[in-house]
Amino acid sequence: MSENKIIDGKIVSAEIRKKVKELGGELIKNTGKTPGLAVVLVGDNPASRVYVKNKIEKTKEVGFNSIEHKLDEKVTEKELIKIVDKLNEDLNVQGILVQLPLPNHINSDKILDRIKPEKDVDGFHAQNVGKLWSGLTSLVPCTPLGCSILVKKISKDLSGKNAVIIGRSNIVGKPMAALLLEMNATVTICHSRTRDIETVCKDADILVAAVGIPEMVKSSWIKDGAVIIDVGINRIEREEKKILVGDVDYNECLDKCSKITPVPGGVGPMTIACLLLNTLLASYPQFGEQTPDLSSILE
Ligand code: NDP
Repeated sequence: MSENKIIDGKIVSAEIRKKVKELGGELIKNTGKTPGLAVVLVGDNPASRVYVKNKIEKTKEVGFNSIEHKLDEKVTEKELIKIVDKLNEDLNVQGILVQLPLPNHINSDKILDRIKPEKDVDGFHAQNVGKLWSGLTSLVPCTPLGCSILVKKISKDLSGKNAVIIGRSNIVGKPMAALLLEMNATVTICHSRTRDIETVCKDADILVAAVGIPEMVKSSWIKDGAVIIDVGINRIEREEKKILVGDVDYNECLDKCSKITPVPGGVGPMTIACLLLNTLLASYPQFGEQTPDLSSILE
């Protein structure tokens, strides 16, 4: 019974990667050009290293070229800008991703805004952010894009529904709000200064948790039948084992909700699938091709 409640991001993300591979194959055949995704990793953050390794593997799996720049922790902002500028001009590179977080001596906003908007497959450039909020076609940040695809599997139109997002980061919370608004939900964003967050969450038909606090959302916070999207990835130790948990207390909330994303295996795999999707989307105009109708992937 409870299996029916689980939104399996592994299955949905595999479908997206398959479709990206198919469409990418057609694009390569039609143009003789292969989409290239450049990933820039600065320093030795273990979590970032794992992410990047995974991204590179999956990029190759869909038949795209992977270009990697692994830079020393001490790289200067000027040197990093020079690399981004070179990638911006490189005709073999259609997507550029600078892995965050960057070391403190580098201004992340400056670097992200240096990436050409048409190659900004993370969707963090101010121009793409502005387009998203204006309802214009843009490259959308991968994690919220993945969450919105999962929500659309349940319901495409959220008219009359309340969506509550916990977290207001530029990477997840804010773009998630724009996407849920686009789906006609009434959207509330909570953050660390929100008072009585529990009461706000209780009103949610769709609850998105993107906080970074292990199992913060308890069953007493959620409405019967709510759809829960858990973005959190928290490494904790339990019974002497290192495990991953979300921002939602999954075991507590499973009975009460109608649908829930597990951690791991929910939102996580969607992020990389959407990165590949964004690389494909970025490639069509750069190769002088019309972007096909991708509603079969996005809905
Ligand atoms: P940030 O740290 O950038 O943002 C966290 C947000 O949570 C902030 O807006 C903060 O509020 C809010 N917050 C913190 N404490 C509380 C609290 N007690 N009550 C209410 N709100 C609170 O994190 P990210 O958005 O980058 O990531 C969130 C989570 O999602 C993390 O666990 C991260 O690992 C995970 N993640 C997962 C991804 C995936 O692929 N599945 C991708 C990206 C992130 P304020 O703004 O006021 O400080």
